This record gives sequence, C-alpha cells and structure tokens, in this order.
Amino acid sequence: MVRPGKDRSVRGPAPRPGAGAGAGTGPGPGNHRTPADRPVPWHALPVERCLEILGTDGDSGLAATEAARRLRRYGSNQLREARRDSLWRKLAVQFQGVLVLVLVGAAALSAALGEQADAITILVIVIVNALLGFLHEHKAEQALEALKALAAPQARVVRDGHRQVVPAADLVPGDLILVEAGDRIPADARLLESHSLAVEEAALTGESRPVGKAAGAACAPDASLAERPTMVYQGTTVTRGRARAVVVATGMATEMGRIAGLLEAAETEPTPLQQRLAHLGRVLVTAALAVCAVVVVLGVIQGEGLASMFLAGVSLAVAAVPEGLPAVVTIVLALGVQRMVQAHAIIRRLPAVETLGCATVICSDKTGTLTENRMTARRAVTASGAFGRSGEGEPWRPDPAGPVDRAGIASPARPDGHGAPGGDEPAAAPGEAGRPDPGAAAAELRRLLEAVALCNNAVPVSASDDPAGDPTEVGLVKAAWAGGIDARRLQRERPRVAEHPFSSERRRMAVVCRDQRGRRTSYVKGAPEVVLERCRFLLRGDGPVPLTGTDRQRMAATAAAMAEQALRVLAVAVRPLDPGQDPEDERVAESDLVLVGLVGLMDPPRPEVPAAVERCRRAGIRPVMVTGDHARTAAAIGRELGLLGEADPVVEGRELEALDDEQLARRVAEVNVFARVAPEHKLRIVRALKRQGAVVGMTGDGVNDAPALKEAHIGIAMGRTGTDVTREAADMILTDDNFASIVAAVEQGRAIYDNIRKFIRYLLACNTGEILVMFLALLAGLPLPLRPIHILLVNLVTDGLPAVALGLEPAEPDVMNRPPRHPRESLFAGGLGRRVVVRGVIIGLTTLTLFVLGSAGGDLERGRTMALAGLVLSQMLHVFDCRSERRSAFDVPLSANPALAAAVASSVAVLLAVIYWEPLARSFYTVPLRPGDWVMVLGAVLLPWVALVVRRHLPGGPPRAVQAGRPV
Ligand code: ADP
Ligand code: MG
Repeated sequence: MVRPGKDRSVRGPAPRPGAGAGAGTGPGPGNHRTPADRPVPWHALPVERCLEILGTDGDSGLAATEAARRLRRYGSNQLREARRDSLWRKLAVQFQGVLVLVLVGAAALSAALGEQADAITILVIVIVNALLGFLHEHKAEQALEALKALAAPQARVVRDGHRQVVPAADLVPGDLILVEAGDRIPADARLLESHSLAVEEAALTGESRPVGKAAGAACAPDASLAERPTMVYQGTTVTRGRARAVVVATGMATEMGRIAGLLEAAETEPTPLQQRLAHLGRVLVTAALAVCAVVVVLGVIQGEGLASMFLAGVSLAVAAVPEGLPAVVTIVLALGVQRMVQAHAIIRRLPAVETLGCATVICSDKTGTLTENRMTARRAVTASGAFGRSGEGEPWRPDPAGPVDRAGIASPARPDGHGAPGGDEPAAAPGEAGRPDPGAAAAELRRLLEAVALCNNAVPVSASDDPAGDPTEVGLVKAAWAGGIDARRLQRERPRVAEHPFSSERRRMAVVCRDQRGRRTSYVKGAPEVVLERCRFLLRGDGPVPLTGTDRQRMAATAAAMAEQALRVLAVAVRPLDPGQDPEDERVAESDLVLVGLVGLMDPPRPEVPAAVERCRRAGIRPVMVTGDHARTAAAIGRELGLLGEADPVVEGRELEALDDEQLARRVAEVNVFARVAPEHKLRIVRALKRQGAVVGMTGDGVNDAPALKEAHIGIAMGRTGTDVTREAADMILTDDNFASIVAAVEQGRAIYDNIRKFIRYLLACNTGEILVMFLALLAGLPLPLRPIHILLVNLVTDGLPAVALGLEPAEPDVMNRPPRHPRESLFAGGLGRRVVVRGVIIGLTTLTLFVLGSAGGDLERGRTMALAGLVLSQMLHVFDCRSERRSAFDVPLSANPALAAAVASSVAVLLAVIYWEPLARSFYTVPLRPGDWVMVLGAVLLPWVALVVRRHLPGGPPRAVQAGRPV
C-alpha cells in the first residue's frame, strides 16, 4: 500500500500561506470555480486557505443555518438520474400487450360487423383494465421508490461543533465530514486530518488497488486526479483508516458527476417467482392461442360464422391467460416490502423477499445484533489491584472480589482496612507476595484509563457533545470519565502523531501521542492474547518491571475468567518511544510493550433475542453466532441467549483454517457459536453452509464483511453501526441492527410467499372455470354460455381486486411453526395444483349448469345472465377459501383483512349494476333476474361449496393441514 508523506494532522499553523494559490483567489465557497472560471486547485492549497475560501471552521464546521442556506443555493448533493419514464409513457405501456392488441382487433371487427355497442364495451373494458394495471404498477413503484429513499446514503458531519448524521444528499460545500474504513465518500473533499487513510478509487481512476491518502502530503497544482493524496472523491470507498475533511464540491459538480454525467436509473430485478410466472404466462398464452385456433377452425367447419367464432376465440384466450398475475405479484411484493420496513428491515433487492422465506441458517454477529451494543466497562484489573463499576455513570471502586480467576492463579483481593467496598480509595488486590498496595493500584488504574482515553476515536468533538462511534470505545471514554479523566482534554494535551487503526483482523489498535514535553508514547489496546504476546514489561505502581511467565499466565487466566462472565476483555499497554523511532512503523508502536492491565466491558444481551432464537428453532431455522470476541465471552452470551447448550462446542476462527472444505462443511453443520472470527472466516463459513445445502442469511458490519454478505443467500447489513460498503453489498438492511428483526423479516417473507400462492390459487381456478365452461359448451354444440364481453368483465374487472386483497392477508399464525420452504419447491406444491383444478371444474360446471337451466325456456340472454351471476359469485366464495391452505374459511377472521371484504363487495356491486342498471344491462345484454332465478343461482353456487366443507370435516376427508416444504 502506498502511503505518501507522513500521515499527520495538519491542524496548526499553515505551512506556507498562499502557497500554490495563484488560482485560489475566488471568493466564497465553491462547487465552484474562480472568477476566471478555472477550478480551484484544492488539492494543492494549504488547509487554512481551503477553509478560508469555503468560509468554514476547521473544528466546529458550518452553522446549521448556513448549511441550510448553502443547500438552497447549491442544491442537493446527488447525481441526477438519467431517464425517468413519464406517467404517460407508463400508461402507454399498459396498452402494448399482445392481449390488448387482440382485443382492440376484436373491437374493430365487431364495429365492422355493425356491432358498435360491443365494440365500445370491449374498448371501455380494455381501458378500465389498463387503468387498473397502471394504478397497481404505479403504487408498487412508489413503494419501491420510497424504499430506496430509506436506504439512501448518510454522512457524518460536524456542524455547530456537534457530530451528526445527515442524509448525504444534504451535504454542502464547506461541510466538515468524518469518514472511516468502510465509508463511501459522500462528496469531493479536501482532507484536513487523516490517519492511515487508504481509499479505493476504481470508480474514478480505474485503479483497483487502494491508494494512500494524507492530509499533509505535498501535491502539485497540476497533479492528475489519480495523484492527489490530499483529496477524497465522491463515490470512492475508504478501505482503511479515517479522516476529517472539508467538502469542496457536491452533486453534479463533483468529479464523479462530471465523469459519470447522469446516473442510470436502477432497474428493479425480477424475483425468481416473477421469472417463473413470466414463464408460466408465456406457456399459457401459447397454449391458449393454439386452443383458440382449434376452436375457431372446428366452429367454422361446423358452420358457425367466422366473425362470431373469432370473438369466441378471443374470449377464450382472455379466459385462459392470467393477465392480472404479474401486476398483482409486483404490487403484493411491494406492499409486503413496505410492511417489512415497519418490522425494521429494508429490502434492497426484491428477490431477497422470497429467499428470506427459505432461510435455514441465520448467521448473526454478536455485538450489537444479539446484544445491545451498549458497552459499559465493569471491571479493570492491573498488576496490583482490581476495580469494579456497577454500571454506567458509576465511579470505579476497588473490587472486593479481586481479580476473578477460577484457575486460582491470582488470589482474590480481600477488602481490608484500606479499601472497604464503597470506599473512595481504591483498595488493592494482593500485589507481590500478597501484600495489597492501594496506592500502586490507583496509579495503575489511572494509567490504564489514560491509555484507553487516548487510544480512542469516540471522543466528543466539543465540550457539550457526547462520545460517539464504536460502542467499545464509547464505553471506554465513559470509563475514563468515571475515573476522573476527560478524554477530550487529554487528547488535546497529547496530540496524536500516528495511528494504527483497529480492524477485525488485527484485533488491536495503537496510537502514538506526544506529550507537552515532546516525549512520544504508544498506547495500545486490543484482544488480550494479541496484546499480551507483544508485551515484555508490566506496569507496577509507577514504573515497568519485566513481565514474568507467571505474570503472563496470571493475566491470561484473569482475562479468561473475565470473559467467562460475558465481559469483552481488552488488554491495555503502552510504550515510550525513543526520539529516533518511527511512530508510523507498526513494529515500533506495537512491540516491547508495557502491560498496564485489563478492562472488561459488559454488553447486555438484547432482552427480545432469546424468544427470537426460540422462534427460529420452531421455524426450522438454525441461528448461529459468529463473533470476533473471545470464545469464552461468546459462550457465556450464547448460553444466556439459548443459542448454546451446556455441552455444545465453541469453535474459533483459526481452528477453521486447519480444515479443508469437506471437513469444514461437516463441522459447520453442528456448530452454533463461532468465536475469534475474522471476515475471511465468515466467507468460508457461508460457503461451507452452502455446500451443506443450507439457505444462509449472514449479517455483517465491517468493511471486509462485504464478500461474505455477497456470498450469502441473504446478506444482512446493519443500518446503524454498519459501513456503507456492507450496506451496498447487502440484500437487506436492519434499521435497528436487531436479530429479532431478522426473524420478523423471515416471517414476513414467508407470509408474502404464502399470499402470492393464495392469489395464484384463486386466479388460476377462476380462469380454469372460465375456459371449461366455454370449451364444454363448444364441444356439446351449445351456444356460448358467456358473451366475450362477460368474460372480459369477469377477468379484467371483477376478480382483480379480490386477488390484490388476498395479497394483503396478514401472516398466518402458524407461519413460523413450519419448516422452511425449499427454494426450488414448485409454486403448486402441497396439493395446490390439485385444488386449483378441482375448484376450476366446480366453477365451470356450476356456470354451465346455470346457463342450461336459465336458457331452458329458450331465453338465451337469461341463461347467460344467470351464468354470469353464478360465475362471479362462485369466485367470490372461492376467494374466502383461498385465504388459508391450512384453515377453513370460517377460522380466518374477516376483520383481519378489511380490504378483502371491500373488494368482494365492490365486485358484487359491479355484478348487480351490470344486471340491474339499465344502461350497463343494455351494453352487456343482461336481463334482470327474478327471485326464482336467484334461488337457482345461489343454490348452484352454494351446493358444491357445502359439499366441499362437509367432506373436509368428515373423517377420512382430505387433510386440512397440507405440509408444504421439506422436513428439517
Ligand atoms: P465483534 O464481531 O464481536 O464485533 P470485533 O471483530 O469487532 O468483534 O472485535 C474482535 C476483538 O477485537 C474484540 O473481542 C476485542 O478484543 C478487540 N476490539 C474490539 N474493538 C476494539 C477497539 N476499538 N480497539 C481495540 N480492540 C478492539
Ligand atoms: Mg465489532
């Protein structure tokens, strides 16, 4: 990795005021250019000059009011989207289907034959259908659009001296931004301060290796984009380190805006189900057209008129093709996804909705997802003593329990006269030779707290601010405060000269600071086993003594015992540097350390998680914890959450390294807790689980988690603590970082799939009934029982709304008591296909019977009217049966889905209007039915239904609970 110049804060006096600033004379902040319309060479200007031009303060940032003013002036920080279909275009698309063209042809033919009324009715129905389709799609699109806005990027800024998170779109020139590993740079910015910063700029320069950046590096005014270490550009990603920078250009004025020009509007990817339905649709269309051709030819041979046979053929085609399906699927997916937002899950890729319902393993981070991510330092152990705190805001007190150590290597400290529990004076654990030394212990604690306050990036930016950032570090800032140390003041007194940032792979962090006398010290904190092996001395009282083997063992055992109490344990060490030593050198800053002590932080498990774990198990999903923490900490938390049985193994990341893919696949099948896991282990775990045939959900937050998230079937990113990079790699984002929300999303995913099956069952049975009635009549040589416009009406108007309403059914109470569905399970699994056919036959026969009965007296139109009424009412009855595959219609409360009641009522109202409202009745050739007719209609509709219900309740009837899916 290139690291140009020294990483160093460039706060302080300007190196060379005005240097290279020939072009930098333009007034005012800029998205902007100088009066001569030459771009300001921000990269070559000293920081002070940049801040001056931009009219901003390098410490406290812009005032909120000024930011708002600039936002109005410079506009939103967004790349414009290229092309947006206008509403008219979207409406026009609705008229482009083959079916619509056929219908329009049919209307033209009717008109040519002198049947103007028919022609007009067909056209009206086509228009109504197009409008409904348009409204559905528009609504679905809006829902998805709103979703995108929720997942919109955010930026960390300092305004009015406070750190805050704002939508990246609201950034303005002059804003102070904070970026760190995993962030996407939200705007073009000049670095003010950077630590080990490396940025991947492939999007801009094509160079895929990260390039080092440094605020203080020298940079020529004519340097090309790829050679500007003092700048970061919008759309590039931070791979390492962190920085503070001032925004110099936003929106279309950024380099990305200039190069990329307009952003292509993102296409929404069709889900597997949508693809399958599209396929089914094509098959049905082809089949329907073939059948139509046969029927028309047969009819003509039998001596029917060509024109009337053409219309019959068209209506058959309309009956056969479930043209409403794709639109309904889209809207149901979109509405389901909206519901998920309420359950704290934002879906980024629509296919994830379906995959969620198939999940068999959910791998979750511990910190923040299973736990609250509110770290409170509870214990500190040094060479001469132990201290405890009862919680947040509490002071440190000498710990009567002493250094916890079940191995008995260190004897517990007893409170004696010097340090009764509750006393202010820190008491001591036995020092050398068991003699407590409260003075020494207090001095060691102070050094420990100083070190964690300095080796910390969560310090407040202003006196009135709160610590913010990594919860571990927030906890340490507060721990220092509880010991009387103000981390912010301390960091000002001892400015940082170098930083070796924390990463999940390194499991440690070091900073080098300079005190007022110019002496430099390295402060290190990290996982005990990592830090301990770098220590050669132990701090005792005021000075270092050699770290003996016993000391080392004692500390390791103490750390293990603390971890067993579910504490996250960090070891803290320091090293004074000699004047000649290079603080940028990791080997200098992180070796020959003086161990100061251990600090243990408590992160309580989320109270809702044990129940969520239990729900997972019942749903046939195995929850797995994957954490970077120590095995013992992980085990303790795992047991508390019900994830880990007493005898269950905890496997460490490095144990995985020894296994080949085969062995690993076998191992991952039985292990529920993985500890000390680095991102590359996560990737291997996902792969191994996939080899096992599992459908894997995997959470992640760090930069390097992105590959594992991409590899998983469902990559899950954290909305709060996660990085931009993981969010972009994820299929789903949790807005509350909570494991329980993943389980809720799975439930919604299953419910959405159920609902799609419900309306497919409904629509296909309706269509089958329609085809059957027409086909049987033709075969029997009967006149057509339904006019083409009747079929159009039913197909395009009356059964559409109930279908959408079925898609709104709430999750059934047992969705989480079933095993997961297999991803390749047929849409018609679990007897759905049979049900569709049976119901279709019943609907078809009912309709045909009513036609025969009604037209028995020779009144063809009365027969058709009764057939129409019978068809619509059968369907309206059927829709209630479709609400559940496992429960009878009576067991599903109507109040759970008011939309369904409304849809059915409106469809019945349309039917009545078509029969009884003169103008409509004339267009549809209906006759008003008399009470006697209705008795027949209702009888014919209800009889088979009653028979179905009775059969279901008879012993030996068909099973009520059809188990779809596979055994766990
Ligand atoms: P998790 O998956 O639980 O978030 P991490 O990978 O973040 O785990 O952390 C792994 C280990 O690194 C922790 O157990 C701790 O010992 C150490 N660690 C965590 N955060 C920091 C930090 N900010 N500075 C130094 N060490 C840390
Ligand atoms: Mg972490």
